[in-house]
Amino acid sequence: MASLYFYFSSMDSGKSTYLLQSAHNYESAGKRVLLLTPGVDDRFGQGMVTSRIGLKKEALAISGEDNLYDAVSNEHNNKLSCVMIDESQFLTPEQIWQLSDVVDKLKLPVLCFGLRTDAFGEAFPASRVLLSIADELCELKSICKVCEKKASMQVRLDREGKIVKSGTQVQIGGNDSYLSVCRKHYKELIGR
Ligand SMILES: [Zn+2]
Repeated sequence: MASLYFYFSSMDSGKSTYLLQSAHNYESAGKRVLLLTPGVDDRFGQGMVTSRIGLKKEALAISGEDNLYDAVSNEHNNKLSCVMIDESQFLTPEQIWQLSDVVDKLKLPVLCFGLRTDAFGEAFPASRVLLSIADELCELKSICKVCEKKASMQVRLDREGKIVKSGTQVQIGGNDSYLSVCRKHYKELIGR
């Protein structure tokens, strides 16, 4: 039975590394994996999944306009074994439903890797749908930079290293950086 998986975490949990390792495992077994990456994240050039430890692999760059069921169907022709999506928080809610059709109609497993919440403690729209309809939810752990408990959230830092307390949701690829923290320290740092 194919399933829709959501591997979620805060920043710096090694999501892309885990994705690339999983793709490698499939391919070592002679299976074909389709990697998708939202075009909004052009930190490392479009159409590439890059991990912070230096692994990288080409991926199909997708925009918010693309129908992902059609995109996967076009690539499939009974050749694919699995679909993996990096930075899935940047998809649209509709695209998550399209991926569920990939699972239900094409019978391919779909693994989405993304952030659960933004720097203001709000779920990304795509992540909200994944949390609602995914068959399997898997949390990838990272560590709070303050207390070393599990980090479930992140705060955004501006160029001067000050914590950003309001703003727009999609800032990845900008000049800001992020700090993974537990909920307690998130609240302390953001002043909630
Ligand atoms: Zn903490």
